[in-house]
Amino acid sequence: MSSAVLEEAEQIAREFEYPAAEVERGVREYIREMDEGLRQEGTTLSQIPTYVTSVPNGTEKGLYLAVDLGGTNFRVCSIDLHGDTTFSLTQSKMLIPRELMASGSSKDLFHFLARQIEAFLRIHHNEHFEAHERRRLQGTAEEELFDLGFTFSFPVRQMGINKGTLIRWTKGFNIPDAVGHDVCALLQSALDELGLPVRVAALVNDTVGTLMARSYTSPGETGTFLGAIFGTGTNGAYVEKLDKITKLATIEHSDYDKSTGEMIVNAEWGSFDNHLSVLPNTHYDQQLDAESNNPGWQMFEKRVSGMFLGEILRRVLLHMYVNDFSDFLKVGASDVVVPENSNLYRQWGVDTSFLSLAESDKSPNMEQTKTALKDHFKIENVSDRDCQAIKIVVHAIGKRAARLSAVPLAAVLISTNKLQSEDLVDIGVDGSLVEFYPNFEGYLRDALREVPEVGVAGEKKIRIGISKDGSGVGAALIALVASKEKAKVKAQQAL
Ligand code: ADP
Ligand code: MG
Repeated sequence: MSSAVLEEAEQIAREFEYPAAEVERGVREYIREMDEGLRQEGTTLSQIPTYVTSVPNGTEKGLYLAVDLGGTNFRVCSIDLHGDTTFSLTQSKMLIPRELMASGSSKDLFHFLARQIEAFLRIHHNEHFEAHERRRLQGTAEEELFDLGFTFSFPVRQMGINKGTLIRWTKGFNIPDAVGHDVCALLQSALDELGLPVRVAALVNDTVGTLMARSYTSPGETGTFLGAIFGTGTNGAYVEKLDKITKLATIEHSDYDKSTGEMIVNAEWGSFDNHLSVLPNTHYDQQLDAESNNPGWQMFEKRVSGMFLGEILRRVLLHMYVNDFSDFLKVGASDVVVPENSNLYRQWGVDTSFLSLAESDKSPNMEQTKTALKDHFKIENVSDRDCQAIKIVVHAIGKRAARLSAVPLAAVLISTNKLQSEDLVDIGVDGSLVEFYPNFEGYLRDALREVPEVGVAGEKKIRIGISKDGSGVGAALIALVASKEKAKVKAQQAL
């Protein structure tokens, strides 16, 4: 049998190579865009100030609430921080009624959310709830409020640790009267209307939550420096020196605690290099972008994250299949191996989990890959050679994503001088891609080492750990930090 198919696969794989010199070029450009984003608004990298000015070290204690509105579900949880890097979490999750997502007023939606929080408190924290009720009816004494972290995964213009106006709805939500309004205030007034003992203390981005959750749970007292997500999308947040965020002087915002001299910045790095000055750009990348619903946007994310890698692979496999000169996925001259109703013909028809599966399939006849091809794509009787060809291109796409992921990490480490000033730099990561794609971290680390300013010595200082549940424990920790900041700001103002 000819090895033309394998040669073709190897050739395509070479198009996905992302060599050390390109990584370095990417890092230069990232640093440039990063600095630009710290100086002004409306730049490629948003570099959003979060007003979170400290990170936890694992000794924090207390009971906090967190809610997460971002997709089809609304999640309410309470988190008990034990003060020894551990915590316990109680949660409930409910479907958001369709009519509230798109037709009602913002009042209806936030009233619904407040009702869910009330039900949660009655079930799980009834003592506290009733004590509050009694105090409220008697009109007595100091209020004991739950501080709540609000993870709101829609574009917001953040103006304070618990203040941010909605820029636009996404993901099927559409409640026009909320646009331009402070979503924390909307939730707070719905809570107040029900007389609930809850203060919306923080508006939370999930990447910042990832950083905070890792900082609390990681071993030792070293604070986490950066949080990154490689899941459906990709994004990161890191600790920046306050005096480098010069655009803060030009943004309208409420007061925040300046005493630490630092602030977490949400990079929004999915849109790194949207103008494609340094990112690799194969045919397949170009087609994917052209046929996406936001051409020209999220260009880094489109080469890195789970939502897109499957689609890149689909386009490569289809290209190899329809090539008349190749007998990839063809048996004999006329047999059609890919039936018309195969997901291989459907945009987004290949899930990124298939890449993980093919990459990790070590069996001699690649039985798992064959089973997946049959189950997901109705492709049967695939030869061992074709499976090898698939593995070759899968590997190339996955490895490029992991090496690209090193670009923002290296750039942020270099720009902040972190590897010079510290012996250990802690990074928290979350998302199915980094968690399940075989050796994702290994490829990422290879690329980090190849950047001269990181090198072997620098890469050794980097500790990477999975950080789960940024919108639960992470949000709780931001609420905690926010309530401490509030107290500090009050004290600063009193001076
Ligand atoms: P989210 O980012 O939405 O919070 P996840 O971190 O689970 O959720 O990421 C989901 C993304 O990861 C999807 O795009 C999915 O295709 C991809 N994915 C799911 N399982 C795997 C896997 N085993 N390997 C690689 N990618 C995966
Ligand atoms: Mg997630």
